[in-house]
Amino acid sequence: MVHVKCDLCGGEVHKMKYTIDIGENNLRYYRYVRNIPQKEKMTGEHHIVQCSNCDLMFTNPRFSTEELKMVYSSQKIIGGNWKDFRYLFNPKLPDELQGLKRKTSNDPRLYQWRFDIISKYCPKDSRQLKLIDIGCGNGQFVNDALNNGFDAVGIDLSPDRIEQGKELYGLEGDTLRCMNVDDFSGNEKYDIVVMWDVIEHVESPTAILKSLKKIIHEKTLVFALTMSIDSITYKLFRKHWNYINPSQHLHYFSHATMKKMLEKNSFKLVGIEMDDSKKKNIIHLTARILLGQVNEFFFRIYSRKSILRILFRPFQRGISNERMKKRLENLYPGQYVGRYHDNFVFVAKLIDFD
Ligand SMILES: [Zn+2]
Repeated sequence: MVHVKCDLCGGEVHKMKYTIDIGENNLRYYRYVRNIPQKEKMTGEHHIVQCSNCDLMFTNPRFSTEELKMVYSSQKIIGGNWKDFRYLFNPKLPDELQGLKRKTSNDPRLYQWRFDIISKYCPKDSRQLKLIDIGCGNGQFVNDALNNGFDAVGIDLSPDRIEQGKELYGLEGDTLRCMNVDDFSGNEKYDIVVMWDVIEHVESPTAILKSLKKIIHEKTLVFALTMSIDSITYKLFRKHWNYINPSQHLHYFSHATMKKMLEKNSFKLVGIEMDDSKKKNIIHLTARILLGQVNEFFFRIYSRKSILRILFRPFQRGISNERMKKRLENLYPGQYVGRYHDNFVFVAKLIDFD
């Protein structure tokens, strides 16, 4: 673990926001990856702080660069396959999920909302635009962008996901590359840069914004999707917000800290757009809260030696306590499950000096 300064202002004075106690039972949840073999690295107290000077919220101390590399460039794939409480009692399901295969949807409308946002800010014909997806994962969005006419490429740090994408979509050559933004020579320039769920994961948002300058020109539009602590779900759940995860999310922006971060790196914020969860209504939110509460209830009962467990024995139908323990690892233990008006696309371009 390393102690860090505020990435936005360099400040070293922080207010403690949340202490997250990670133990054997919720290890899987906070780790959210199966890549760190040493459990002792993850268990214990983790802290999320807020800079006293500029209000940026971030994980501190956090994993070292080497440990983070282990997470992101491992041959294994990041991601979880969370189940709700019904999974605990269904004997037909396997105890240990083979959660490493990412489901891939071929639904071309899946990311339509992203293209809608891009075309709102960039009404040009997509065939004239060079697009790069930073942190492209298996390249699903890159593939969609190609189908939408963009001249698109994607980069990612996981060799596993790049290989998977090449195979899945038949993408050849340099379309998907396992590399970092810093590895570009400076000869390739893009009109559109997208970073979907990337900036909250990187050690230094400042560094990535600086590196972007290698691959952009003065009219390039940058679209960065991340969760915001100005959202209703953060205000409702705070420490129990489903994005509070010190092993994965190193920075937690508000609209204001994101604006400051962009401006500090000579970008101006030209717009903020909600992701596709804007279509979801209050009934959806209520249902997801209820599901989360029920999950949490069962998680508590089964992760402790609770007498209440006896009540649910008839529903276990021959699933032994040992098997139950394994199943518990795949249960989403949060108070709220889902996404609701909490992710925003921050649209930015270089400040023009003319
Ligand atoms: Zn600061």
